[in-house]
Amino acid sequence: MKFNIQNTFTKELPADPIQENTRRQVTEACFSYVTPKKTSNPKMIHVSDEMAKSLGLSETAIASEEFKNIFTGNHVYKNTQPYAMCYGGHQFGHWAGQLGDGRAINLFETVYDNKKWALQLKGAGETPYSRTADGLAVLRSSIREYLCSEAMYHLGVPTTRVLSLAFSGDEVLRDVLYDGNAAYEKGAIVCRTSESFLRFGSYQIFPARGDVKTLKTLVDYTIKHHYSHLGEPSKETYVSFFKEVAERSLEMVIHWQRVGFVHGVMNTDNMSILGLTIDYGPYGWLEGYDHGWTPNTTDNTHKRYRYGSQPEMVLWNLYQLANALYPLIEEAEPLEAVLENYQEQFPEKYMQMMREKLGLFSSQELDGTLVSNLEEVLQKIETDMTIFFRLLSSISKDDSIEEAIKKIEKAFYTPSEVVDEIKKSWENWFQSYIDRLQNETVSDEDRKEKMNAINPKYVLRNYMAQLAIDDANKNDFVLLNELYLLLKNPYNEQPKYEKWFAKRPEWARNKVGCSMLSCSS
Ligand code: AMP
Ligand code: MG
Repeated sequence: MKFNIQNTFTKELPADPIQENTRRQVTEACFSYVTPKKTSNPKMIHVSDEMAKSLGLSETAIASEEFKNIFTGNHVYKNTQPYAMCYGGHQFGHWAGQLGDGRAINLFETVYDNKKWALQLKGAGETPYSRTADGLAVLRSSIREYLCSEAMYHLGVPTTRVLSLAFSGDEVLRDVLYDGNAAYEKGAIVCRTSESFLRFGSYQIFPARGDVKTLKTLVDYTIKHHYSHLGEPSKETYVSFFKEVAERSLEMVIHWQRVGFVHGVMNTDNMSILGLTIDYGPYGWLEGYDHGWTPNTTDNTHKRYRYGSQPEMVLWNLYQLANALYPLIEEAEPLEAVLENYQEQFPEKYMQMMREKLGLFSSQELDGTLVSNLEEVLQKIETDMTIFFRLLSSISKDDSIEEAIKKIEKAFYTPSEVVDEIKKSWENWFQSYIDRLQNETVSDEDRKEKMNAINPKYVLRNYMAQLAIDDANKNDFVLLNELYLLLKNPYNEQPKYEKWFAKRPEWARNKVGCSMLSCSS
């Protein structure tokens, strides 16, 4: 197996001088060298063939013992030295100090086809940043990260990716509900890939300690390697850098809203500096359309990271990043201008995205009302977001209101409740929608095609991942592979997988792992 190793992170950034694997505060350094833990009985479960191809790995390579040993942390690839990154972060609105890669270990950076990839194991053992935890990951959360990363990629959402999923062969103790009932679960290791795993928190940690020198080194490094089109580092470049991070983050969250993805833990340590979706923990997908929904039981009281708040939470996180970058710029106005720009841009971009979801290709004054009325009526009765928007593409300009409602009826969880005032609201909305469609020049057929290219037919519903997890726990990976294949083409009709174009079954409504997920992983 051959990688074109090009480690710039460890070469150009300051390392922690201590190489012992003890938990500690690490200062004036961006990372600590650490060796992954040897596992007792490693076994590959799945490899993303697409990601393997992007790294130039052949089928023989991914089936090899060497591949298994490298990507479960049992063998260190020649001339490389694994490391954990140092970062801090705001968790649920509060500064948490040093966090860092507590259970992620970066193996190396490789270049293939002119693209740089950092390869990182999640769940490969303790690091200096493990704090009170074990550095390990369980099968369920690893499957969730594995499937969702690739699903998001194929949905066209900026995201980190994955190469492989393996059993470690070790048992891991977890208290899923935090109720004192800890139990052993199967340990697993995912190899994640990304151009970079730098997060907002990677920058925040330095000014929080008054270390502007390392902050500058890291920002200059980031611009040189990931934002090189912005030019040489200077105060102006730092502002342009922040501006582009804000733009990318906005674009990312608009995609989340488009596909109904709820991240669940949008802490600043989980915000990628490249505007990628990162750290798949207690995330979930909207089934019933509901701005107030979060899958994360740890956030149940305040629902800080609920679906409807995600764009605002990105902004909040950008404020923290602005504060972190301030010592390099020493002027608040240009940073504030970027944040104001986000606030101006968000409603426009959101509207544009919603117009596309509705198949409206011109812009008209009353579109805002049409969209807000839809958001309201969608929340009056439990309506499946994915199914609703997908079926909406089959509406014709010539449909009667009754015909139109009939076409989307499958999206209602209890169609029998669509009566009286609720029925009236739906009728009113469809009346205005069909009226609005008359002003479009595209044919019904063309509109359908365009709408189906942005309204997915298949997403990784929470219960689907859970079914794959239940089987995998019994060493049956057929469903895992089926979902992996299904989600490669989320916008296509796939008749043999039609059963996955369905509402969440009732048994999954309040089941742990389906609608209730904790941070325990
Ligand atoms: P997360 O909520 O997954 O973003 O994690 C927040 C912080 O906790 C990060 O610094 C993680 O590295 C750390 N962390 C989470 N789980 C573990 C674990 N099992 N062992 C060590 N550190 C962990
Ligand atoms: Mg994290």
